[in-house]
Amino acid sequence: MTKVIDGKAFAAKVRAEVATHVAALKEKGIVPGLAVVLVGEDPASKVYVKNKHASTVEVGMNSYEHRLDAATSEADLLALIDKLNADPAVHGILVQLPLPGHLNSELVINRIDPAKDVDGFHISNVGLLGTGQKSMVPCTPLGCLMMLRDHHGSLAGLNAVVVGRSNIVGKPMAQLLLGDSCTVTIAHSRTKDLAAVCRGADILVAAVGRPEMITGDFVKPGATVIDVGINRIERDGKGKIVGDVHYESAAAVAGAITPVPGGVGPMTIACLLANTLTACCRSNGLAEPK
Ligand code: NDP
Repeated sequence: MTKVIDGKAFAAKVRAEVATHVAALKEKGIVPGLAVVLVGEDPASKVYVKNKHASTVEVGMNSYEHRLDAATSEADLLALIDKLNADPAVHGILVQLPLPGHLNSELVINRIDPAKDVDGFHISNVGLLGTGQKSMVPCTPLGCLMMLRDHHGSLAGLNAVVVGRSNIVGKPMAQLLLGDSCTVTIAHSRTKDLAAVCRGADILVAAVGRPEMITGDFVKPGATVIDVGINRIERDGKGKIVGDVHYESAAAVAGAITPVPGGVGPMTIACLLANTLTACCRSNGLAEPK
């Protein structure tokens, strides 16, 4: 029987644990705060920001939303980040990507104080993760790792294939799996015979951005399949969200699989809250929650 990894239930558990820690911090007079900056009107980004706000408030943290006009200048955006960096009530800063084309994302992300970089995209955090040091870990791959650890226990020695080499998902995912002693392959659009490479995987992570591209014939029998993809498609005249994995055919072969929706997505927001809590504890010199 294929196990369906329930990211929604797992995320609810993580959020409940975060809420318990937040309540304990409040007794010490500390309230973790997350600032989210949205530039422009990208519809998907607006939904993500709304969900992040609701989840932040739900666990008892302060949520500071900054919605800026699409034409905001780089100087104004950097000035806002400087202000948030200096604000002791703000422990985490997230700039919702993608930014409008006239803004340099790297410059903007690297302006965030690395200690407040709860997305883990600052170059310092990327370097710390790559060298196995304490860092802020990107939320989506962190959520995937938590589900994998929960399912497998130890990941040591397992063959992991990550399809996708983006800075926000594929590369940090590969680093995390390496950190847990997997034998890691990173595949991408130039990989030869992708299906054969994927069939070597005990753990297959799909972060491609192509609806249902990873079908059952990419999956080794019994493998664990983590579907990071979020793709909006039209089917039978209706809008639908599907992953990068063709669920039915992959689930028929896999040992365990994450659904879309209800897999990686909810874990991403839960990990954002966990990272904000971690940042708050670190900035107050308190022990980090496990
Ligand atoms: P990117 O577009 O930045 O990267 C996609 C990667 O997939 C690239 O490395 C690309 O290779 C590779 N790729 C594209 N086509 C193929 C192909 N035919 N064969 C093999 N590899 C291919 O996407 P992201 O990493 O930002 O996101 C990936 C997916 O994850 C998307 O569906 C996105 O919506 C989703 N996502 C979900 C999140 C969540 O919370 N669940 C959070 C973030 C993203 P190359 O480098 O060679 O071009």
